[in-house]
Amino acid sequence: MTARTGKCLCGAVRFEAEEVATEFSACHCDMCQRWSSGPFFSTTVGKVRFTGEKNLKRFRSSEWAERGFCSVCGSNLFFRVLEFADHEVCVGAFDERNDLVMTGEIFVDRKPDGYALAGDHPRLTEKETLEKYRGLAG
Ligand SMILES: [Zn+2]
Ligand SMILES: [Zn+2]
Repeated sequence: MTARTGKCLCGAVRFEAEEVATEFSACHCDMCQRWSSGPFFSTTVGKVRFTGEKNLKRFRSSEWAERGFCSVCGSNLFFRVLEFADHEVCVGAFDERNDLVMTGEIFVDRKPDGYALAGDHPRLTEKETLEKYRGLAG
């Protein structure tokens, strides 16, 4: 768990994150695929402070969650369950990400057959994911 900085593609939105988990997961749910053009790689962040907040657009993607992105360049920045303080921040948005390690996949049975992520880690199906997160994943 370390603090680190990040930004969108154009730099209009920047952030400082604290309590950053160095292990992250890939989500293959239908919403994440549509949003990310593939798996959504995100790591859990306990605290995050944004600058350029006026360029940060929050999209309410479901009754219980929102997704944040830069309204200038369109870079996706985070997913967040509304009732939690934690943000699931996009791995690619961090300035330093070489030490972040993927340790799991969720909704793996929703993944298209044409690609697969390497590595020996847990791969939860949609049913297993929903059971684990009590319906809050997605
Ligand atoms: Zn931007
Ligand atoms: Zn997802």
